[in-house]
Amino acid sequence: MSDTTRREFIRRSVAAGSALALTGTMACEGTTGSRQRHPNLIYVFPDQMRAQAQGFMGEDPVITPNLDRFATEGIVLDQAVSNYPVCSPYRAMLMTGMFPHSNGVLANCNTNGAMNGYELRESSRCWSDVLKEQGYSLGYIGKWHLDSPYRPYVDTGNNNEDFAWNEWTSPQRRHSFDYWHAYGTYDNHNRPEYWTTDAPRSERVVVDQWGPEHEADMAIRYIRNEGGTFRDPDRPFALVVSMNPPHTPYRMVPEQYLQMYGDATPEELINRPNVNLEENSSGARLARRQIRNYLAQVTGVDDQFGRILAELKARGLEEDTIVVFTSDHGNCLGCHDQVTKNVHYEESMRVPFIIRWSGMLEPRTDDLLISTPDIYPTLLDLMGFGPDVPEQVEGVSHARLCLTGRGGRPTSQLYMWVPYGEPALGRRGVRTHRYTLMISSNRAGETEQILHDNLNDPYQLRNIAGESKGIVQDLVEKELDHWLELTDDPWHGRGV
Ligand code: CA
Repeated sequence: MSDTTRREFIRRSVAAGSALALTGTMACEGTTGSRQRHPNLIYVFPDQMRAQAQGFMGEDPVITPNLDRFATEGIVLDQAVSNYPVCSPYRAMLMTGMFPHSNGVLANCNTNGAMNGYELRESSRCWSDVLKEQGYSLGYIGKWHLDSPYRPYVDTGNNNEDFAWNEWTSPQRRHSFDYWHAYGTYDNHNRPEYWTTDAPRSERVVVDQWGPEHEADMAIRYIRNEGGTFRDPDRPFALVVSMNPPHTPYRMVPEQYLQMYGDATPEELINRPNVNLEENSSGARLARRQIRNYLAQVTGVDDQFGRILAELKARGLEEDTIVVFTSDHGNCLGCHDQVTKNVHYEESMRVPFIIRWSGMLEPRTDDLLISTPDIYPTLLDLMGFGPDVPEQVEGVSHARLCLTGRGGRPTSQLYMWVPYGEPALGRRGVRTHRYTLMISSNRAGETEQILHDNLNDPYQLRNIAGESKGIVQDLVEKELDHWLELTDDPWHGRGV
């Protein structure tokens, strides 16, 4: 970061409660006079939807009418990233406001994760725990993926005797979500499975419906509080809708969304020059096979998100509800010959991030370098709970910046990947408005540096680390070292 350390930044912006005071003032002076004291929150995030797959961005040739409209109603943070662009690490950063070395989720929750103790700690103080104490009703719908599987494994399609992924989340591990319609991780989008609030580990609900559509149905029922059974009608609520698509298997997408892409050929849909179509690389073959399915899944997610927004409008809840649309990470889908995520490239790291609070946040696009752990303090601060953000939260509140356009701005975002059981190894890096730097280090002591000039080379086709040693050194000393120190990363101090 710049001269000011991130911790000082946190103390200034959160402990002072400046945004809270501002929110309170604005709420009192609101034009309607009927705005509730603390807003509701709806946080919608599909899995592995890259920022480029939003139609209004003008990148992927994707059809997203609801997001295009939503983007004109809120703040678009077009430089938002997932700092560790894979499932469980993102989700733990989101829930705890802490980076992986502090929250303990250093890689995905699965059998390997279980052996290393990687799962969301019961003792972590999540934003949902804070909101519960403040009287909120809390609902979670969809994919959780923050518990490691334990034997005997649950009998789901992605769990076998040797290796497992999916796991039930016991009520005491749900971090105050009192309404639960969720699962750990399981990828049959056409026949998803959920555990409901009171269901034991042995009882799952199997649904013959496309996952995002079913989850939007449940979200709508929650918003309506159907039968009075979903939430306390006299309290504000926070609802998370965590959809699985546009995740593999890409072929599992309703025909209606595929048809919207008409006769477009894969070559017409793959417009990123970092997919090597000429040499027919493995990445290019994947892109040819799946680009249409991926974009159609995004269109389906957009459609279902639109239904949730329409319900909020129909209920007159728009002004009283903060809505966030984002994703846990992106997806290369053949760019740089990468078949998936968990790398430093733009398609992997950059995620959608749109926040709408009608009448309170001026719609605009902002190039704020927000990091995943910042989401927790920013949302709580906006909702009027800045002083209740726990001391151990490492993220920074950008609430004041959202409300006024003014405030301190980070100068970089951390990038990281950690191999199972090797917390000091893997990859670390930073992303600034101009550069992406990635340094890798393995057990054999081999290191590699990759530097991209994203301004002059937006598709990251050239590694200029060798010819730009001064820039690399500057990025390490002025940015990366601060991050490694802040996050208690054992990589720190090795002098790379
Ligand atoms: Ca994911």
